Amino acid sequence: MKLISIIVPAYNEEENISPIYEKLVHELNVLPYRYEILFVNDGSRDGTLKEILKLAEQQNSVKYISFTRNFGKEAAILAGLKRVKGDAAILMDSDMQHPPTLISEMIKGLEEGFHQVVAKRTRTGDPKVRTLLSSLYYKLINSITDVDLADGEGDFRLMSRKAIDSLLLLSENNRFSKGLFSWIGLSKKTICYENVLREGGSSKWSFGSLINYGIDGIISFNTKPLRICFYTGFIVLFLSLIYIAYTFYGIAQRGITAPGYFTTITAILVLGGIQLISLGVIGEYIGRIYNETKRRPNFLVDISNVDEYHES
Ligand code: UDP
Ligand code: MG
Repeated sequence: MKLISIIVPAYNEEENISPIYEKLVHELNVLPYRYEILFVNDGSRDGTLKEILKLAEQQNSVKYISFTRNFGKEAAILAGLKRVKGDAAILMDSDMQHPPTLISEMIKGLEEGFHQVVAKRTRTGDPKVRTLLSSLYYKLINSITDVDLADGEGDFRLMSRKAIDSLLLLSENNRFSKGLFSWIGLSKKTICYENVLREGGSSKWSFGSLINYGIDGIISFNTKPLRICFYTGFIVLFLSLIYIAYTFYGIAQRGITAPGYFTTITAILVLGGIQLISLGVIGEYIGRIYNETKRRPNFLVDISNVDEYHES
């Protein structure tokens, strides 16, 4: 029988551990699969670890990893994916915002042959400002990066063994999972669900951390901001040359009216333009270095009938 692994990151979720376990088991027991539930305690300061240990003692299917401190959800997901043994894994929050009732539908997607089954939430009940900002953000990120991200699609997803292994090939340290899930490609099915508001505890996201997350998303998938510098330099230089020619023409016609103005403004504008261009050039190199240091594979093979050729 195939094994399904459920990965549940938890940070200060003591009141949610045992309810989420109950709900998961309720869903999983009716499916023709073996299962393991892996809790990743991300340095909680409350009784989360105690709750997890209590469960693990009673249930063989409960596994756990506990971090030495809070490393963030991205790290918790990565640790989980590295350790699960399943033929597929489901990533799921511990706060009940990811309804376990969707699991059977996700498994159906897996049986249909999809490598990723993503649960997409509506934004019902979210603050209006957050909804607006995030829809703008997704427009921006999709227009300037080469990965496709959809608003409402988060970490709640099923991944086949192949998808897990592909994701683990991306060894970069600064991980923006949403982008990485999309980067690996592979067939994907989307199922929709109505947004669920948090019951116990509180969200770990502050406005500031959302902004930081947003910047990570843009920076980790392209170096276009650097190129903007380059183009701005060219535009500034071009415009200043026009302005300089215009001013020079004025002087030729009417003589010098403000002594020193022409030489000063010429120096500032031309140098400003050249500096921006040079920054852009340096930026291009840094961008290349940045991409190289991520050591991402150049490609991931889906199917093929030839093995990699090794000269030995
Ligand atoms: N989480 C985590 N480490 C963190 C922050 C959050 O493991 O540093 C977990 C948290 O326990 C929950 C999930 O990630 O299971 C989602 O967190 P949260 O509900 O705060 O985010 P939101 O649902 O508001 O996006
Ligand atoms: Mg939540």
